[in-house]
Amino acid sequence: MPSNPVVIAVLKAKKMVAPEMGDEVINGCPVATQDIRVNLNNRYKAVQAANYGPLNPELPNTKYWEAKAKQFKSTVEEAKTALCSNCSFFIQTPDIMACIEKGIGDEPDNYSEDVVKAANLGYCELFDFKCAGDRTCDAWLMGGPITTEDENGDDSDEE
Ligand code: SF4
Repeated sequence: MPSNPVVIAVLKAKKMVAPEMGDEVINGCPVATQDIRVNLNNRYKAVQAANYGPLNPELPNTKYWEAKAKQFKSTVEEAKTALCSNCSFFIQTPDIMACIEKGIGDEPDNYSEDVVKAANLGYCELFDFKCAGDRTCDAWLMGGPITTEDENGDDSDEE
């Protein structure tokens, strides 16, 4: 059981609001990877519930990082090291990456692979949306990304 209060609150909320949320699939993929409306809705929830951001990680975003550092009683420098790309809710298994690319576009010669690489996309298991590796949120949990599935089909960060 996670100890982060934001994580616990979100997990409880998911059960209360929609017990099956995140378990829905389209063509064997999480629904948010295939339906942009669901993805945007879930991303909005992550922004509202856990300050998912910043909008453009390439900008200084000084206020955002100062607030994050203050929240965790840390420094801006340290806050900037806790990103989606190393969060244990950030899923980048081959199956999920294939789902994300398929959801962006599966017509011949599409650019989905380039888009995924440029944004370092993965799937946020906690909020159920495609998230960008350079962003973060208050529910960040060390230990990610998850890149492989174990023999039971569960996601794992072990190679
Ligand atoms: S991957 Fe982690 S840090 Fe990123 S939005 Fe999801 S819970 Fe937050």
